[in-house]
Amino acid sequence: MSARKFDTDCLAIAAHRDDLEITSGGLLAKFAAMGKRVVMLDLTAGEMGSQGDATLREEEAAAAAKALGVTVRENLGLPDAYLSHDHQTRAAIAQKIRDHKPELVILPHWEQRHPDHRICSEVGYDACFYAGLKHAKLEGEPHRPRKIIYAIYYGLVEPNIAVDISNHFEQKIAAIKCYKSQFPVEGRGNKVFVPGIDVFEFVRARDSVLGMKLRVDYAEGYIQKEIIGVDHPLDLKGFSI
Ligand SMILES: [Zn+2]
Repeated sequence: MSARKFDTDCLAIAAHRDDLEITSGGLLAKFAAMGKRVVMLDLTAGEMGSQGDATLREEEAAAAAKALGVTVRENLGLPDAYLSHDHQTRAAIAQKIRDHKPELVILPHWEQRHPDHRICSEVGYDACFYAGLKHAKLEGEPHRPRKIIYAIYYGLVEPNIAVDISNHFEQKIAAIKCYKSQFPVEGRGNKVFVPGIDVFEFVRARDSVLGMKLRVDYAEGYIQKEIIGVDHPLDLKGFSI
């Protein structure tokens, strides 16, 4: 079996600027603090957002990545709210996978209220496969990530992986706060998010509940579709009783 070459530890892909901070900000900050190479890839620029234009959101996204300690953030500039599961989109993402050669890819969970999130999940998976095809019409060498995990967004989906982000939770909140055009004041009810739900309260509650399962302060939830393999069951964190 030939060893695959990975230039990037983690490539995190999302439909919109601010998605990655809300869903995976803790893990991305944790990776960055460990000195791992992290790339954030947003598919759209946010031009359809009801508040703030694409330029302002670009500045906010850059500030948020900096707050997480992530130095590489790219944007595909695909049409916001009209994300399509077509060949052009798949090829654009696949090219980024070849460019960065990630070991881990983070995608949104496939069950979503917002069509862009669902499409990002589906086309993102297909791009991971397509990037590895020898004869794909892409630049560079074929590449596939070793692992894909799916971030839990806003639905009541039960994760099967919980990552302790206690030491990076406040960094995650600070990154979300960079989106002043979207979430102007903490505790005021950010209706652009989920009607009537304040994003900061939501993130804190969700990550705190998940943290309780690991007996830590905060955790982020993910799903991996394949079986979870370990060298020894005692490698598994968490408590049965
Ligand atoms: Zn979104």
